[in-house]
Amino acid sequence: MIIHMKKGALPQQEKAVLDRIISAGFKYEIIHGSTGIDVIGILGDLSGVEESFFSELDGVDKVVRISKAYKLVSRQYSAADRKIKVGGIEIGGRELVIMAGPCSLETEEQIVTIAGYVAKLGIKIMRGGAYKPRTSPYSFQGMGIEGLRLLAKVCGRYRLKIITEATGLHRHIDRKGRPEAKNVLENVIEYADIIQVGARNMKSYGFLQELALLTKDSKKPILLKRGESSTLKDFLLAAEYIVAHGNPNVMLCLRGIRAFEEPEFQRYTADIGAITVLKKESNLPVIFDPSHSIGNRHYVEGVSLAAAAAGADGLLIETHNDPANARCDGDQSVTKEELARIKALAVKIHAVVK
Ligand code: PEP
Ligand code: MN
Repeated sequence: MIIHMKKGALPQQEKAVLDRIISAGFKYEIIHGSTGIDVIGILGDLSGVEESFFSELDGVDKVVRISKAYKLVSRQYSAADRKIKVGGIEIGGRELVIMAGPCSLETEEQIVTIAGYVAKLGIKIMRGGAYKPRTSPYSFQGMGIEGLRLLAKVCGRYRLKIITEATGLHRHIDRKGRPEAKNVLENVIEYADIIQVGARNMKSYGFLQELALLTKDSKKPILLKRGESSTLKDFLLAAEYIVAHGNPNVMLCLRGIRAFEEPEFQRYTADIGAITVLKKESNLPVIFDPSHSIGNRHYVEGVSLAAAAAGADGLLIETHNDPANARCDGDQSVTKEELARIKALAVKIHAVVK
C-alpha cells in the first residue's frame, strides 16, 4: 500500500502517518518530494488493513493498494525512473552506460592492458571478476583479494569505476589453499563501486538480505542478474528483497535465459523482449549483458545493438586483449576494436530511441 501525501502537508501530519504505520506493526519507505514527503510505501502484509485506516489522517492525499507482488520496484509505487549515481556517472538517465572488461581478472598486465583501452574508448566503468562462480570445481576460481587490490590500483590510475561480483558469504580459498581473512561479500563491498550479484545467486535470498543490510547505509549500487531459468516476476521479487531490506540502488541485468538452444550456436537465449517488459513494470534501470546472452564474440555486436534499440539503459560487455587465451569466457569476449564499434553504434541507437 502506498500513501500519497498532500503537497504542503505539515511535518506533524507526516509524523502522525508514520506513527500510525509503526504502531500497526509495519515498516515504511519514504520518497521525498521538493517540499516534504511525497510518497510513503508501507511494507508488510496489508491484506487485513483498509485504505481508510490511513486516508482518514490529515495531510493524506490518497492511499493506493499496489496489486503487484513486487511493490517498491514497481512503476505503480513510483512512476519516475530510478536514477543511480556512480561517482559522476548516472545510470538510468539520458545516456547509455557501458561497462566493459574481462570476465575474470588474471594478471596485473592483463588488467592494465584492458583498463587502458577501455578508458581510452571513453568507457567509465570497468568489469572484472575476482571471484568466479564456476560450474566446475576444477576451473579457475578467480584471483580473489589480490585481484581486487590490483583492479582498484589500476582503475584508480585510469579513473574507472569498478563493477565486480560477490559470489557469496563464504571465504575464498587462495592459491595456496588457505581461506582469505574476510568473506567474499565483505571484500567486494570494500573495493567495488557496483556490486554484481550473479545469475546463480539471484535466488539466494539470505545472501540478498545480507547484502542489502551491509549496504543499507552506503547505498552502494547493486547490479542483480536474472537467473538463467527465472521468470521476470521472480527476478523483480529478488530485486524487491534488496530494496525492501534497505538498499534502493538496484539495477536489473538481463544475461540470457536457458531455452532449448544448443551452446554451439547460442550459449543462452538473449531475452531482449524482457527489456521492454521490465522498463514498463519497474522503475529500476535495465542493463543488458550481450556476452553471456549469446556466448559467441561474433554475435555480441548484434545483440548489443538490439538491446540498445529495445531501450536498455546500459550494456555489460566482456572484452579481452587476448580472447583465445582468456582463462574464462574467451569465446564471448570481444576485442578492443569490436568493443569500439559496439560502443559507437549502440550509443547512436540509444540516442534515437531515448
Ligand atoms: C559474469 O558476469 O562473468 C558472470 C559469471 O555472469 P552470470 O552470473 O550472468 O553467469
Ligand atoms: Mn563471464
